[in-house]
Amino acid sequence: MTLPRQRIAILGGGPGGYEAALVAAQLGADVTVVDSDGLGGACVLTDCVPSKSLIETSNAMTLLNRSADLGIATGGLATVNAARLYERITDLARAQSRDITDRVNAEGIRVIRDHGRLAGPGTIKTSQETIKADAILIATGAMPRVLPGAEPDGDRILTWRQLYDLTEVPRDLIVVGSGVTGAEFACAYQALGSRVTLVSSRDRVLPQEDEDAANLIEDVFKRSGMHVLGHSRAQSVHRDTDGVTVTLDGGQAIKGSHCLMTVGMIPRTESIGCEEHGVKTDKNGFIEVDRVSRTSVPGVYAAGDCTGVLMLASVAAMQGRIAMWHTLGEAVHPIRLGHVAATIFTNPEIATVGVSQRAVDAGEVAARTLKQPLATNPRAKMAGFRDGFVKLFTSPGTGVILGGVVVAPRASELILAVSVAMEQRLTAEDLAQTFAVYPSLSGSVTEAARKLMEFTPGT
Ligand SMILES: Cc1cc2nc3c(=O)[nH]c(=O)nc-3n(C[C@H](O)[C@H](O)[C@H](O)COP(=O)(O)OP(=O)(O)OC[C@H]3O[C@@H](n4cnc5c(N)ncnc54)[C@H](O)[C@@H]3O)c2cc1C
Repeated sequence: MTLPRQRIAILGGGPGGYEAALVAAQLGADVTVVDSDGLGGACVLTDCVPSKSLIETSNAMTLLNRSADLGIATGGLATVNAARLYERITDLARAQSRDITDRVNAEGIRVIRDHGRLAGPGTIKTSQETIKADAILIATGAMPRVLPGAEPDGDRILTWRQLYDLTEVPRDLIVVGSGVTGAEFACAYQALGSRVTLVSSRDRVLPQEDEDAANLIEDVFKRSGMHVLGHSRAQSVHRDTDGVTVTLDGGQAIKGSHCLMTVGMIPRTESIGCEEHGVKTDKNGFIEVDRVSRTSVPGVYAAGDCTGVLMLASVAAMQGRIAMWHTLGEAVHPIRLGHVAATIFTNPEIATVGVSQRAVDAGEVAARTLKQPLATNPRAKMAGFRDGFVKLFTSPGTGVILGGVVVAPRASELILAVSVAMEQRLTAEDLAQTFAVYPSLSGSVTEAARKLMEFTPGT
């Protein structure tokens, strides 16, 4: 006798939703995804993928504009072809969404392009149909928070999702908010030729991040000519005839051609039936989940930005997969948020994994710390940069790697060595005895590990 196929219904086709759908299909389930905007979600269509594509261009600009130091004559400053830049970004995002759609179709997953909502136990409703399922996954994502008095008009006052409709690179861009998104766009547009003012309500940019890394980036920003305003909270943003005025808490007014608002995200959970059907949310509307993505209602799971748990594509995808493994009876490990590797795509990038300096300084974790500057790394010298470092944390006594911070071009790639070391509980000695290529930036990872090796005198 064959058991009936489990029916899975997924609301939202971003990384939280489509990655879950792929796992469920692999396990033989009958899967339906309801998505309103296109597979890949905001991640692929408006947020992660477009921003990283823009940053690739800005990094190329930085390189071109420093090329004289490397012995290349370009005949002046490189400039941006804005139409081509934005066209490339939107084409790339759409192509990525198509690739995901092809993959999902090939697995026999049914996709309904519509808004959906919870409509009772095991039920999702769209405008056209009712879908019955044995388990439901909500993965509806999040959207930009709007500050009252600073409502985006899509022309001069913008969310990051509206940038790619511009026909020009803003001449004077005011970025409100100096978290990850604000820092990334401020850095990119400064490199693309905008005059950027970064408005930060805190004493420094990237207030949640490793302090050494944040200070270094702020210094790089200022040296590039960016105007960084600390302790400044934007009260309102108004449209003028040919630009914008941002008024700060103290009454100071700043003028620019455009203003980019990066003041956080709110979950897309407002009208999807959570409240009516007992799915608990917190005071900000994020769905409460445990470490295997279960909500307060049996058979209803949630994943990704709508849960507010580390708002990263990799985390959304893992939460979605875990939900499917759990509901379809596979062995499953609860999500380990302490092992998530993340990157801030400034130039240089900041990549982190594991223990943080803040936890060490607060006495929450006992760790030895070593910071190895990149300025002495031969490969860094050859490439002509000196801003960056590798920082490692090890457990005192055992030398086990607890985490690290890498600030470097392509730190997003270099951090993998630290992630693997941490995941596999390798020691500083294990890492130090690993061959790194000479010359390479990863040589600084093994060098930091060498310096952290603990020797017992007399042995
Ligand atoms: C500017 C920016 C850059 C980022 N860069 C990175 C990065 O470099 N690396 C990284 O890991 N993360 C990055 N992120 C975060 C990443 O984009 C999110 O964590 C990720 O998109 C979360 O995926 P998700 O599946 O939860 O939601 P989403 O990607 O938002 O997808 C949700 C989907 O659900 C659909 N939906 C919503 N409501 C309904 C409904 N009622 N019915 C049907 N469909 C619905 C939406 O249309 C959407 O398609 C970035 C975020 C921003 C803002």
